[in-house]
Amino acid sequence: MKALVKSHATIGLWQEDRPTPEIGPEDVLIKVHKTGICGTDIHIWNWDDWAARTVPVGLIIGHEFAGEIVEMGAQVQGLALGQRCSGEGHLIGKLSRQSRAGRFHLDPATRGIGVNENGAFAQYLRLPAFNVVPLPEGISDDIGAILDPLGNAVHTALSFDLVGEDVLITGAGPIGIMAAAVARHVGARHVVITDVNQTRLDLAARVADVTPVNVAHEDLRDVQIRLKMAEGFDVGMEMSGNPQALDQMVASLVMGGKIAMLGIPPGMAPVDWSKIVFKAITIKGVYGREIFETWYKMIAMLQNGLDVSKVITHRFKAADFAQGFEVMRSGQSGKVVLDWTCQPPDHQRFVSV
Ligand code: NAD
Ligand code: ZN
Repeated sequence: MKALVKSHATIGLWQEDRPTPEIGPEDVLIKVHKTGICGTDIHIWNWDDWAARTVPVGLIIGHEFAGEIVEMGAQVQGLALGQRCSGEGHLIGKLSRQSRAGRFHLDPATRGIGVNENGAFAQYLRLPAFNVVPLPEGISDDIGAILDPLGNAVHTALSFDLVGEDVLITGAGPIGIMAAAVARHVGARHVVITDVNQTRLDLAARVADVTPVNVAHEDLRDVQIRLKMAEGFDVGMEMSGNPQALDQMVASLVMGGKIAMLGIPPGMAPVDWSKIVFKAITIKGVYGREIFETWYKMIAMLQNGLDVSKVITHRFKAADFAQGFEVMRSGQSGKVVLDWTCQPPDHQRFVSV
């Protein structure tokens, strides 16, 4: 099969021919239809310090995917050949207290496909059946391929009650934009999203009914006055990873406000803790998706009018992956989706499926 591999410890990715994965009794084999390029994949392409520390050379990368089941292990129940699916890319351990209590997303032994284990940027992916999430008919492969980052957005957005609240999102990357759409969908009053990249703010306004603010040119306090917000934002979602955005968020929140933090700062960053203490602010770190509650909620919302389709701005054939990565690296895109169905079906095992 064709696969995108981190073949060398330097910038870039390489298409290689790899054997189609063998599956174990509790696994399925998924024929990949579409994949999403994630910021994580850009770190791996760039081979920054984090990637060099974390990702083994020779790994098939990618973790955002949709496809169909073409082979099932002997122990697999409740799934069927031909089932369209996406799936949770975090492979959890089963031994920790958290995992045994059913809080799977908090298992410390979690390993990621496309980061620690072979991933989804390939014609076929081996995945534990436990991780499979079937796709209902109304959810396309394109949307299926971005459920992983939508899940980050949903997990963050549902961390605090947003009904009737004023919400500030810092960072209009794909995840910030989708979180804004979710906040609007679940009944927030004002949803303000900030960035310093005008292309992304324009995209945010096309995807959801939000107030985009370019903090390079506009003062958030003026925006609050314009929106007739007396005291400040009730809930913040930090989705830029920029420490200045967190400062701005703390300054813009009400007394007793809440922050859900998904953005990952590049390293140690100074924080004015006294402001957080005197404002009695609650901060929650958010990692991944709740397994599988986030998946149920997001699929239900997609079936009930949540529309994030416009966040996908570019589509490429998998063979043209380099163009897709170039667009993502430029910062002038939303989600970029790669199509694997154009690759020749080069494996005899599945011709009848
Ligand atoms: P992204 O890098 O595409 O978007 C971040 C955006 O923040 C960019 O558009 C950038 O211009 C903007 N930004 C930079 N400085 C800003 C400032 N001062 N104020 C406002 N915006 C500013 O990232 P993404 O893929 O949308 O992901 C969002 C964040 O979440 C990233 O930090 C990513 O690393 C992180 N992430 C965390 C998890 C997790 O499980 N915790 C999962 C996925 C992504
Ligand atoms: Zn991702």
